[in-house]
Amino acid sequence: MNTCIFCKIINKEIPSHMIQETPSSLSFLDIHPHAQGHTVIIPKKHVKILAELNDKTTQELILDVKKTMQLLQNKLHPDGFNVGWNDGVAAGQVVGHLHIHILPRYTNDNGGSMHSIIKNPGKRSVEDIAKMFSK
Ligand code: AMP
Ligand code: ZN
Repeated sequence: MNTCIFCKIINKEIPSHMIQETPSSLSFLDIHPHAQGHTVIIPKKHVKILAELNDKTTQELILDVKKTMQLLQNKLHPDGFNVGWNDGVAAGQVVGHLHIHILPRYTNDNGGSMHSIIKNPGKRSVEDIAKMFSK
């Protein structure tokens, strides 16, 4: 039995405030909004993290993110957005079904930027890390 809360939303077993449905994704209002119009968008296929999503569905998902942002823009007229997801438990993911947060932002809304998520660069220098990627 699938106990995933977001799969239940997809299957309409529990209600949601859906604002967009496409063949591959669902966008609905976050039940505990961190911003006016805070929305989550989920692939209909149950995967936990982005690495598990195939390339075709990933492409569809990002296009659907763009469409949802446009919808929010048209209705709520935000001044900007933060868009991102908690990919894995260590990154703060609570619901184990991949979901992208779309946070409409408003001038002087007292929020921070992506940089406020973490400030812990670790022991390795930027140069040492760069060397790990050099061919
Ligand atoms: P995360 O911490 O990235 O796993 O975020 C999970 C998000 O899902 C939180 O922002 C919750 O408020 C939201 N959430 C959990 N259950 C529901 C639900 N039934 N309907 C809408 N949003 C939900
Ligand atoms: Zn699920």
